[in-house]
Amino acid sequence: MNTWFSEKLLVWYQLNKRDLPWREEKDPYKIWLSEIILQQTQVIQGLAYYQKFITHFPKVQALAEASENQVMKLWEGLGYYTRARNLHATAKIIASQYKGKFPKHYNQIRALKGVGDYTAAAIASFAFNLPHAVVDGNVYRVLSRVFNLKVPIDTAAGKKQFQELATALLPNKKAATYNQAIMEFGARYCKPRQPDCQNCIFSHTCMAFEKSLVESLPVKEKKTKVVPRYFNYVVLIDTNNRVSLQKRTSNDIWKGLYEFPLIESSEPISLKKALALAEKKFGLSALRSKLIYQSGNYKHLLSHQTIHACFYVFKPVKFKNATTENIALKDLSAYPFSQLLVKFLKDCELREIV
Ligand code: SF4
Repeated sequence: MNTWFSEKLLVWYQLNKRDLPWREEKDPYKIWLSEIILQQTQVIQGLAYYQKFITHFPKVQALAEASENQVMKLWEGLGYYTRARNLHATAKIIASQYKGKFPKHYNQIRALKGVGDYTAAAIASFAFNLPHAVVDGNVYRVLSRVFNLKVPIDTAAGKKQFQELATALLPNKKAATYNQAIMEFGARYCKPRQPDCQNCIFSHTCMAFEKSLVESLPVKEKKTKVVPRYFNYVVLIDTNNRVSLQKRTSNDIWKGLYEFPLIESSEPISLKKALALAEKKFGLSALRSKLIYQSGNYKHLLSHQTIHACFYVFKPVKFKNATTENIALKDLSAYPFSQLLVKFLKDCELREIV
């Protein structure tokens, strides 16, 4: 069915493919690693992280034996930290249940933590050339436009229809190359905005181009709701230049990362209110007289949340509770932080202001 589509795409790919380190890779461990890193991440940013991980953990066994802090530290700045935790958990499962050998069957791969339909199809096809069609954002875009498919991609019916079409188009014996080709084409030509229709190999057959529907496809039913959150960080430093840190452990953003004691409010609050809340929450007094630095407002964008943050630095404050550790300022760089905290630490050079 529709062999014209796959044939054209495969010819284009042979002439235009980018040289990426995982491109000709057949090792399922490295493919899995690259696919998890590239979920919600641009190739250009993911490349450096892929290389860091391969250098530190050349085999799945090495990743399984790493500490959580080591994995999170390497992942620092990449966002969507659940991916790092799943990566670590899955490495442990492969090391124990599969004796360090990556599973070879689609259903076993699909059952791994953090591996959805797309990632399972990518690993199965790239590593083992199994006939499973990938459907990611690029594929949704290309297929919806070329075939003028208007069913919303964020509905069960839409997902099913796109998966069926992608499977029907897949040349079974060339699953690995074809899957790479369609994603590469979507990333480089059929881009979300301003696709290169004039120079596109499908410009004579693409239904969306013919009907001027390019910008309106693919269709999404739900709009992403972005929730604002207000983080007031209390940076407590003692006379020995040790700072209080706590690990985020609840099922919220940045689980497994470290941060300063936090007061979250439902709206922006004044310095006076922040001080009063900090004193009450942490059982401290006379914080105002110990305030040595107050940051400006930081705005940190996540896919479903916007974090508005402010940092208040106090010294000297002796503080310890069941959930905090006191860490020497010079050792802070060994701990994994969110990108927001990395930025704050870089901006204010804590060691210089105390
Ligand atoms: S003609 Fe434009 S919209 Fe159609 S496949 Fe090519 S780049 Fe995409």
